[in-house]
Amino acid sequence: AFQLEPKAKVSDACASYADLDSLNTKLYPYIRNLANNTDFFSYYRLNLYDKQCPFWNDENGLCGNIACAVTTLENETQIPQIWRAEKLSRLEGPKAQHPGRKQQRERQRPLLDQLGAGVGESCVVEYDDECDDRDYCVPEDETASGKGDYVSLAENPERFTGYSGEGAHQVWEAIYRENCFSRPATSGSGVGVPGSSAPFPALSQNQAQAAMDFKQVMKAHDRQEAIKSGSPDEGLDDEEECLEKRVFYRVISGMHASISTHLCHDYLNQTTGEWGPNLECYKERLHEHPERISNLYFNYALVLRAVGKLRDYVQDYTFCTGDSEQDQITKDMIKKLAGAIPAGPQIFDESVMFTDHTADGISLKEDFRNRFRNVSRIMDCVGCDKCRLWGKIQTNGFGTALKVLFEFGNDDAGVEKPLLRRTELVALINTLDKISAAMKALERFRNMMIAERDGT
Ligand code: FAD
Repeated sequence: AFQLEPKAKVSDACASYADLDSLNTKLYPYIRNLANNTDFFSYYRLNLYDKQCPFWNDENGLCGNIACAVTTLENETQIPQIWRAEKLSRLEGPKAQHPGRKQQRERQRPLLDQLGAGVGESCVVEYDDECDDRDYCVPEDETASGKGDYVSLAENPERFTGYSGEGAHQVWEAIYRENCFSRPATSGSGVGVPGSSAPFPALSQNQAQAAMDFKQVMKAHDRQEAIKSGSPDEGLDDEEECLEKRVFYRVISGMHASISTHLCHDYLNQTTGEWGPNLECYKERLHEHPERISNLYFNYALVLRAVGKLRDYVQDYTFCTGDSEQDQITKDMIKKLAGAIPAGPQIFDESVMFTDHTADGISLKEDFRNRFRNVSRIMDCVGCDKCRLWGKIQTNGFGTALKVLFEFGNDDAGVEKPLLRRTELVALINTLDKISAAMKALERFRNMMIAERDGT
């Protein structure tokens, strides 16, 4: 069933599969190196355990497998000095309310100055976990007051965990439900969820809604998949869909495809106890669904374009691990990576999206942003720690990519670029690393298919 014509364009992106493959072959070593071999990009602080699922009671969806567990760093000496709780607590500014970014920055400035020259705001500016208007994600709070753990990403690879069944399906369904733009976004009911800045429906209301919507949602989801795969119409309506809504779906489906690729590629053979690629898993989840693979390529184009757009931004970014030599190396590495990504819209042209500046167009963008924030909240419902870790990192990574694409403007003149939190930048690069590695894994699976066919 699998046929991706190498020269075919990844629809909605500007590059072909072959272009993206050859670009990835070139960039893969840089991306790997940056994500895995620098302190800045290989530690992530997040609140993995204390946030409750805001949508349903998730006690039954927990994963008890050892492979689901995440190793957090207990010993602070393993963490670069500047990020240790003690250091951060000294730097933390007043947080009574959520003032504008500028005002907040000014309040923190004297504290930053105490650190001396050369230490910029990216070291500590993880103000709080409330959303900025331009955020596509619920931010992770990296300040000392935020509950959270440092996780070494290199020590917690995304792989098979055995998390499946009803709990996992419920999460995917809820995520795809956010794609139903015809029904109101989950936010806006006016019922608050503790610890969240945005209103959400109460649990019971949400459950009732979910039950009502379930059939409709799955129908819409099947229709989306049928349209993408070009499979014969099975009595589905011919539905015109706007580009923005299609992009939303493709981001989610591409992320799902990337997760599936990683779990199939680093799979535990429960009979032998060995880890390795599982060709059957690949066939069932990916090979037989070329549209999912296409969406993964689409995500590569989208995230790559965002990282390319950071070319100038990172020039002034301070990568403070407390080791200025390493910081310079990190900066040079990301500049080199961003510089190797073709500038201009050859890969992905975000300027064709959200072009309607009327009230309808503006509310479409807000709707898109709210829905994406909801996807990031749904990650607190994932009942497997390691899946939750990578689910949160990747939604944050896509949220950051969308923020860079749609809030940074296309030229430097006059547009105040939103600050990127450290967690956002780390998530962005690690998300790119995941997609890039998934493309390499797919190449390996394709070769395994050829070997199987040829009996070699
Ligand atoms: P699922 O992958 O659960 O898919 C459910 C349904 O969605 C399918 O039946 C199909 O109709 C549809 N679908 C599947 N793929 C796509 C796609 N790409 N695009 C559109 N529709 C699709 N498991 C691990 O082993 N390791 C992990 O790291 C991991 N991380 C996860 C992270 C999150 C956020 C979630 C929700 C789950 C994670 N899981 C992980 C579980 C994994 O994704 C599957 O849910 C599980 O393996 C069961 O797979 P399944 O075959 O039942 O189909």
